[in-house]
Amino acid sequence: MSASLSPTRTQFIAGKQVSSNGTEEIPVYDPATGEIISTFQGADAADVEMAVAAARDSFDKRIWRDLPPIERAARMTAMADLIASHADDFAELEISDNGMTMSMARATVTSCANSLRYFAGTIQKIHGESTDLSGGGRQLMAYTMREAVGVVAAITPWNAPLGVLVNKMAPALAAGCSIIGKPAEQTPLSSILLSQLLAESQLFPDGVISILNGHGHIAGAALAAHDDVDKITFTGSTEVGKKLVVASAHNLKRVTLELGGKSPLFIFDDAPLEHAIQGAAMAIFANSGQVCFAGSRLYIQRGIYDAVIEGVAKIGDAMKLGNGRDPSTQLGPLVRQEQLDRVLKYIEYGISDGAELISGGMREGDKGYFVRPAVFANRERNKIRIAEEEIFGPIVTAMPFDGLDELEALANDTPYGLGSGVFTSSNSTAHKAARLIRAGNVWINCYGILDKAIPFGGFKQSGWGREFGLEGLSPFLETKAVYNML
Ligand code: NAD
Repeated sequence: MSASLSPTRTQFIAGKQVSSNGTEEIPVYDPATGEIISTFQGADAADVEMAVAAARDSFDKRIWRDLPPIERAARMTAMADLIASHADDFAELEISDNGMTMSMARATVTSCANSLRYFAGTIQKIHGESTDLSGGGRQLMAYTMREAVGVVAAITPWNAPLGVLVNKMAPALAAGCSIIGKPAEQTPLSSILLSQLLAESQLFPDGVISILNGHGHIAGAALAAHDDVDKITFTGSTEVGKKLVVASAHNLKRVTLELGGKSPLFIFDDAPLEHAIQGAAMAIFANSGQVCFAGSRLYIQRGIYDAVIEGVAKIGDAMKLGNGRDPSTQLGPLVRQEQLDRVLKYIEYGISDGAELISGGMREGDKGYFVRPAVFANRERNKIRIAEEEIFGPIVTAMPFDGLDELEALANDTPYGLGSGVFTSSNSTAHKAARLIRAGNVWINCYGILDKAIPFGGFKQSGWGREFGLEGLSPFLETKAVYNML
């Protein structure tokens, strides 16, 4: 099978690839060239109705959740193998519509397979509890059961299209749910290949997995408002996350949210400098800064401030920008013209708000959406837009700090709380910092490492709930208590 750039049946409903009922054509751009490489018909309200009906039917008839756990685990493992055996095709499609580098695209495919394997391994470990009861003179026994939450809608962003989608499917399937994916409209291609593989393999009963490709304000909003959807799991902007909370209020859907960030990274003057500089650069430049936990606020202990800025700028200046298909490319383009415009606008804000542009920040080439990574010095730590707002691009704002006493106030002076980093050679400093930072993830002498066994998520306006680890399974389960008078 080869990867298809001109799909016609872009929706996956009730086990079949079908065309949308919608009439709106959505273009897909290759971010490396700016050319339209595909168009597809976005899902509309009628497609949502059909997908929800199929998901509801499969869930209510208990078709998937009543299969023996070992059988469900085997099918999820088979799905992992299926994805892994099409790694080249998936990587090609991720590069085509997202612009990511080859190494990231391949890592994404591995991550998807790992996610399915990890959660397949949890299925036989889902269990309730029983305990002695006080009873008030009655002889009682009770136990708890953990049951699938129901029909889940997974609404996902463009910055890691396949990865985020499959990371949500895996725990939902493990729990016994039926799931409807709604990938970002900018990046549908990998999900269409996934639909094709699922349709051909028939690994899952019809309706257990559906995928709707279409606009957020149409298909996403219809899913969020639908009374037969029991849960929303969302990764995307804080702004849309808040809309989903409101839309979910009608039937009190369960909601988990992985949202934005403005993550701080601290370099202490006792840190191994070269390692810290490299870590700080990749914390913000990887995937051209289009990473929710990108280390966009860089705090450098005053004595090493200029040396670190110079080092990070040097790395940004030397990075090879290019098409992700070229294995020597270190940085791909931004995803879309809108994202390029947004990043260039923030470069202007940085300059007009008084920060010093040390390096980068200009568009590269006249084709595609490339921008040279930018380093700003904000020596006075002014509360300017580039230091406070999520940009989702390769722009880092470097600010001095004087030591551990300042860290808590600086780190937490943000509505977000997703990622954070600390570079130091002192264990004591590192672990004190880890306690003081209000964020879901603290990386010490490293940045951005994720593992399926460790929960990931955000404090404050960076989200609700966690993904990965056993904690990542819980949002897809309800607990039922059963009492029995003896
Ligand atoms: P976005 O919020 O614009 O879109 C995300 C998804 O929501 C898309 O599928 C979109 O179609 C859909 N959507 C948009 N409006 C909707 C509506 N009214 N109702 C229902 N669905 C709607 O985000 P994006 O621009 O695709 O991605 C960038 C954002 O995602 C950044 O803020 C980034 O920080 C965040 N993000 C967070 C994580 C995390 O794990 N915390 C990971 C990746 C990205």
